[in-house]
Amino acid sequence: MKNEIAYQRCISPACGATFGVSETLTACKKCGGLLDIAYDWQRAQAPKQLSDFEKKWSQRRNPLCFSGVWRFKELLDFASDDQVVTIGEGQTLLRPEPEVAAYTGVKNVCLQYEGLNPSGSFKDNGMTAGFTHARVVGARKVACASTGNTSSSLAAYAAASAGAKGKLEAVVFVGSGRIAMGKLSQGLDYGARTIQIMGLFDDAMKRVKEVSASLGIYLLNSVNPFRLEGQKTIMFRVLEALNWDVPDWIVVPGGNLGNSSAFGKAFKELHDLGLIKRLPRLAVINASGANTLNRLYNEAGIRWNGGAYDKTKIDAFYQQMDAEHREANTIASAIEINRPVNLTKCLRALEWLNGVVTEVSDQEIIDAKAIVGRGGLGCEPASAASVAGTRRLVESGVIGRDERVVCIITGHQLKAANTTVGYHSLHGEELRHEFREFNIRNNPFANKPIQVRNDLQEILRVLAPQS
Ligand SMILES: *Cc1c(COP(=O)(O)O)cnc(C)c1O
Ligand SMILES: [Zn+2]
Repeated sequence: MKNEIAYQRCISPACGATFGVSETLTACKKCGGLLDIAYDWQRAQAPKQLSDFEKKWSQRRNPLCFSGVWRFKELLDFASDDQVVTIGEGQTLLRPEPEVAAYTGVKNVCLQYEGLNPSGSFKDNGMTAGFTHARVVGARKVACASTGNTSSSLAAYAAASAGAKGKLEAVVFVGSGRIAMGKLSQGLDYGARTIQIMGLFDDAMKRVKEVSASLGIYLLNSVNPFRLEGQKTIMFRVLEALNWDVPDWIVVPGGNLGNSSAFGKAFKELHDLGLIKRLPRLAVINASGANTLNRLYNEAGIRWNGGAYDKTKIDAFYQQMDAEHREANTIASAIEINRPVNLTKCLRALEWLNGVVTEVSDQEIIDAKAIVGRGGLGCEPASAASVAGTRRLVESGVIGRDERVVCIITGHQLKAANTTVGYHSLHGEELRHEFREFNIRNNPFANKPIQVRNDLQEILRVLAPQS
């Protein structure tokens, strides 16, 4: 079916090739660059003002209005309503957190909890859009490579896609290394065929591309431009929670850089449409053990530069990475990535939103994670990079203490329960042994379980108010 409003467009302004939405592409057919979904805004039914979306709140029995992604459908209108695959994603929460405010030194800091999605991470925002496009093109099988959350999300949507149009079959490729148990368990439980490759994420990524091409499977990795359309809505919900007021900063962990890219596009489009008057700034936070973006941005000085970025320098960086056998290594497994697939899109987002990039150590990540947990809605390690990064950027004077900051909390606390229990319950040599692959030495924010004999007097003594 022909869609009049949306099309695919190469992100390179020099190329600018366009393709219909009914094509399944992972790159521009002309130059190999990344693709965007573009819209003919004259025909799209974009609202006059963002508050018009509030009308959808009273129509929650309609699944497209219930979804925190599809209630903004006018801003990602690439499919007809009956093609939408939704499982009620995007019922997420923006909350000020006093502990995080004290820790980062920013008075006005809110956390956007994307771990509250059905599969426990922000990936559901993108997966609902990706599955919808899979329906548009009539796919039967879908696949991804994943550090964990993408496979959890894909498996959940495949399981729930049963119905009039027939279930989409799911294949997920994971590395053999450090997938968190919580994430692996989801894919298995939801019935996805799970291929565990002896190798790293980047190996799994390479293989899934080959397999999809040869078996005609629909690929749902974050190179898929439709996924990013769904992820734009995280920003729409942030604005909605702030009464459509634009904050000063959006801070987000950077792995494959899909989220940061999507956020840049979201604000650029809202601004171009006249729906917001100003733009927030963007901060993308790498883990020190997976800091490709930070090194390219801050050491090599790579910029999007209106599309004329220095490709030679990027290629040289990767050549050296391979020559030195440098491999990503961080406790934040969701961002443990050597070659971020959306690098160039993220550079563009950084240009649009006057962005900054920094990195934080595993110790900073794990400590920030404990601080987030104190708010009663925890997170997995990767998510805490946004809080650790905010603290760093405040210390270095980039983020002002009076600015309004939103940190994206990308994944649920229960994804990596072992890490949490290890941090809180071990100490000294035991702690260092548990986290020996990472540079984690101590746990200043630990809430240690108190061991007691099964004896009432002893329990009462332990619980007596301390003076
Ligand atoms: C995927 C993921 C990230 C990284 O997001 P990108 O869009 O790949 O940069 C961060 N945190 C969590 C919990 C994730 O699942
Ligand atoms: Zn192109």
